[in-house]
Amino acid sequence: MSTYAVTGAASGMGRAVAEKLSAAGHTVIDVDIVEATVTADLSTAEGRRSAAAAVLEQAGGRLDGAVMAAGLGPAPGKDRPRLIAEVNYFGVVELLDAWRPALAAADRAKVVVFSSNSSSTVPMVPGRAVRGFLDRDVDRVLRALRIFGKQAPTFAYAASKIAISRWVRRTAVTPEWAGAGIRLNAIAPGAVLTPLLEKQLATPAEAKQINRFPVPIGGFGDPGDLADWVVFMLSDAADFLCGSVVFVDGGSDAWFRADDWPRGVPARRLRSYLKRMAAFRR
Ligand code: NAD
Repeated sequence: MSTYAVTGAASGMGRAVAEKLSAAGHTVIDVDIVEATVTADLSTAEGRRSAAAAVLEQAGGRLDGAVMAAGLGPAPGKDRPRLIAEVNYFGVVELLDAWRPALAAADRAKVVVFSSNSSSTVPMVPGRAVRGFLDRDVDRVLRALRIFGKQAPTFAYAASKIAISRWVRRTAVTPEWAGAGIRLNAIAPGAVLTPLLEKQLATPAEAKQINRFPVPIGGFGDPGDLADWVVFMLSDAADFLCGSVVFVDGGSDAWFRADDWPRGVPARRLRSYLKRMAAFRR
């Protein structure tokens, strides 16, 4: 049986994943701001440090996997963009930085990070905000979002999810991760009926937007179904999955972006492509 750390395990999809892993006989070290074995506020650097350390202590320095589901959705509030940035991006990368040696100590460890289809369906997310995340500069992120005024939380959310997907893809393939046998991937759900979405649906203006958003297959996703995808991404069947962002969103990403991906390498990128080819060591 395996040992998994699950953040955001008190509610929604994180909770569903934790319940399924426990029911299968695994040890789950659950992390959340409420109702958890490791209680910590991931919106602060101190909270992230204490959560990372407490999990490592409980796991005895070896983790078979981690699921990073703690997250905040877009909601009104002046401080909301900062909270979204801290939890959705830094609450993932700082914990995984700390847990990497424990994951490398296990055999074929698996990590699933919660992204979102907001990463590909929200228009006009500033590249400066995404680069700010990747450079770990939260003030730069917030400066880039100021122009959006009351809409800033929506763009903070999308930028955090673009950045975390990019971090996953860049990091997954490095010698420290893939080279150490750790499989790092992301899941990008569409609208899934969890307390996070229920809160948004309770506001008439937001409900209107959500209900008119294109979902070709119709309806909302089910948290238990999404948890099954995550459990699959933690299983042996996912041994060859590395650096992928798996969209489970009823078709919204394909509706908007069918021709954008996959895409061949254009002639102007050939030089950097060949450089990457030469840089690879088996
Ligand atoms: P949820 O609100 O039901 O659960 C999120 C959990 O994160 C909660 O238990 C909450 O307490 C925890 N959390 C929030 N702030 C925290 C903090 N500061 N410190 C520690 N824990 C904190 O949400 P969900 O819908 O299950 O979302 C799970 C993940 O999936 C999130 O990353 C979310 O962005 C993403 N997502 C959700 C949807 C959706 O429609 N529900 C769609 C795409 C992506």
